Amino acid sequence: NLTQRLARVMKTLKGEARLTESNIADALREVRMALLEADVALPVVKDFIAAVKEKAVGEEVIGSLSPGQALVGVVHREMTKLMGEAHQGLNLAAQPPAIVLMAGLQGAGKTTTTGKLAKLLKETQKKKVLVVSCDVYRPAAIEQLKTVAAQAGVEFFPSSPSDKPEAIAAAAVDYAKRHYFDVLLVDTAGRLAIDAEMMDEIKRLHAALNPVETLFVVDAMLGQDAVNTARAFGEALPLTGVILTKLDGDARGGAALSVRHVTGKPIKFAGVGEKLSGLEAFHPERMASRVLGMGDILSLVEEARKSVDEEQAKAFAQKLKSGKGFDLNDFKDQIGQMRKMGGMSAFMDKLPAQFAQAASQLGGGAEEKMIRRVEGIINSMTPLERSKPELIKASRKRRIAAGAGVQVQEVNRLLNQFEQTQKVMKQFSKGGIAKLMRGMKG
Ligand code: GDP
Ligand code: MG
Repeated sequence: NLTQRLARVMKTLKGEARLTESNIADALREVRMALLEADVALPVVKDFIAAVKEKAVGEEVIGSLSPGQALVGVVHREMTKLMGEAHQGLNLAAQPPAIVLMAGLQGAGKTTTTGKLAKLLKETQKKKVLVVSCDVYRPAAIEQLKTVAAQAGVEFFPSSPSDKPEAIAAAAVDYAKRHYFDVLLVDTAGRLAIDAEMMDEIKRLHAALNPVETLFVVDAMLGQDAVNTARAFGEALPLTGVILTKLDGDARGGAALSVRHVTGKPIKFAGVGEKLSGLEAFHPERMASRVLGMGDILSLVEEARKSVDEEQAKAFAQKLKSGKGFDLNDFKDQIGQMRKMGGMSAFMDKLPAQFAQAASQLGGGAEEKMIRRVEGIINSMTPLERSKPELIKASRKRRIAAGAGVQVQEVNRLLNQFEQTQKVMKQFSKGGIAKLMRGMKG
């Protein structure tokens, strides 16, 4: 794994004041090997290593940094650059309907991603979205888009396998214009491999539609093959962006590093799950952090933002503002929210390596178990006890412990922990937790 490998390499660089060609040579060789193992295309690796070397040599190892950390800094910076620096969103600045054409191989995730984008545009940008399928070879693919559109809550323009893709597209554009849709997402047919017929068809569709966005959808699991596909689509179509799917399953991350380099187009979104909510804005800097194992705290925050129930957050902020304080009901809600974020282990995955390591020393699944016990104890309390924990004296403690099937000491421990948390929350509320929460909701 690239992360572990890099971590090992970086440790070998110790006690040097400046990065030099010779003191980083071994490390760079390892980085190169690691990238190749991560399925990054060879020309990309070569360019990348050259860039890192140029930037690193002569770099002073400042302050408390070790030379290894200094080199990681350079690798991180260059990796971010390789993937396109800042996040770029969709450009929908066009006479409505803004047309978005989805291109890519069969199984890349075009239909799923069409649904994800539809949902995103509808929910976050309040767009009126129409979707249409030009996949006339597989009736099931048209049905699939229909299902996905219903899930996303957007309108589906029906198409028939006996029609020509361009005719379907033209009819959909016409319909979208007459019914004042903001955006038209056009799903297309892919093949199992790059093939002339498919390329001709998508080129004709592109010419007929003149889309404002032409997105190349590519499966991150393809690794090295993603590069060849990206090149072929990039040569056939004036792509405006890339969507990298199945990043949830891609342990190696090689495709993310190569695709931008090969197409010269920004990766705009990442697919991170089969569900329609599994689409994230692609942030090069965060991706580089993830590849390097620095922990993806930013995306953790964003996930939390999505999962936190807006109403709950508002009520919570209100409660703190009114000085009523943070009680065990809130504590329980917080645990629930942590669950929504994918449970403790998903949470741990997002933390920087050092923390995650410490946590994992608790043993497999220990955190989950602990959380479940805490939840069990709180469940055994009455609502009154949850809002006024100070009422919980010896006899109540015994009742709660019995109800939750734990020892009284555990109830004590929870109450102590809670008291600590409450203190911290009080501090926060003085500094304006309401503001903090609003910030979280972005
Ligand atoms: P298409 O042939 O390009 O339209 O691909 P589909 O949208 O039908 O997707 C092919 C398969 O990949 C389906 O089983 C999807 O559920 C799955 N899929 C698509 N995107 C993702 C993703 O981001 N993560 C995961 N895990 N699966 C995905
Ligand atoms: Mg499809």
